[in-house]
Amino acid sequence: MLTNDPRDHLAVQRVRHPLKFRLLQVKQVRQLTPHLIRVTFTGDDLHDFVSASFDDHIKVFFPEPGADKPLLPQAGPDGPVFADGKRPTARDFTPRRFDRDARELDIEFAMHEAGPAATWAAQARVGQYLGIGGPRGSMVIPTGFDWHLLVGDDTALPAIARRLEELPPGTRVAAVIEVADASAKLEFSTQAELHVLWCYRSEAAERGDTLLKAVREMYLPVDGEGYVWAAGESSTMRAVRYHLCTERGVDKSRIRASSYWKMGARAVHEKLDD
Ligand SMILES: Cc1cc2nc3c(=O)[nH]c(=O)nc-3n(C[C@H](O)[C@H](O)[C@H](O)COP(=O)(O)OP(=O)(O)OC[C@H]3O[C@@H](n4cnc5c(N)ncnc54)[C@H](O)[C@@H]3O)c2cc1C
Repeated sequence: MLTNDPRDHLAVQRVRHPLKFRLLQVKQVRQLTPHLIRVTFTGDDLHDFVSASFDDHIKVFFPEPGADKPLLPQAGPDGPVFADGKRPTARDFTPRRFDRDARELDIEFAMHEAGPAATWAAQARVGQYLGIGGPRGSMVIPTGFDWHLLVGDDTALPAIARRLEELPPGTRVAAVIEVADASAKLEFSTQAELHVLWCYRSEAAERGDTLLKAVREMYLPVDGEGYVWAAGESSTMRAVRYHLCTERGVDKSRIRASSYWKMGARAVHEKLDD
């Protein structure tokens, strides 16, 4: 609801979308860096796909061993309905780019040692099938803040790259990104006024150390309204959020921090708040 508060235009909007499951086929596979694979999917099911925010996620369903197509649930009134109650293998990913006219959707997979998603991406070939569900909703973070800070690791790169493409010309934005080493760096396409800080795990004793150190040392504007978006490994994101909110005065309504994965656990997604 709009009030007379001049900051109304900075309110984050929640948008709901009808739940739908779609069967897609691989159209192209591109190795963007030694650590990141972009897969372009196509299919008529994309005719009514919607992704309203860089922060969106879709459930990606993988074929079970020996099958060429994934088993997709039906959309029921209260959510997904699984055949025989069996839950197919699925993981969360970011819709990196969508082109309705071309019926194309890009998903970028960060490579790591184990897991059905990373294993599938490493062998992805044109013509293979995959399923997606959602997005069920979008959190639309306004672009009109005086400054933006984006923090994340490899799994957040697709969302960060999309946000940078979508921010209007001249927007002040800083990005702090942790990747394996310099070979994982990407060139971003953006019209924003961007300052990027790449942090390399190869230079750190432990995962998350360089990212947290960079966030601790980074300048935050004291003037104007800012918004922080952060996503990546769970304990690192908790530490980043704690530091920004308790030691740097970031208001809790001006940060959206999420666990996109958790060391030693499978398929984790947590929105971090108190
Ligand atoms: C909202 C949301 C959006 C996301 N968007 C993307 C995206 O666009 N691209 C992307 O690559 N990922 C994205 N992720 C993260 C992705 O869902 C997880 O990394 C997922 O666990 C990968 O599944 P898997 O089958 O490869 O591994 P899992 O079977 O889930 O995990 C197996 C093992 O690998 C570890 N692991 C999982 N991910 C990583 C990693 N990145 N690095 C090192 N170890 C890992 C786990 O701790 C576990 O021990 C997103 C997650 C969320 C919640």
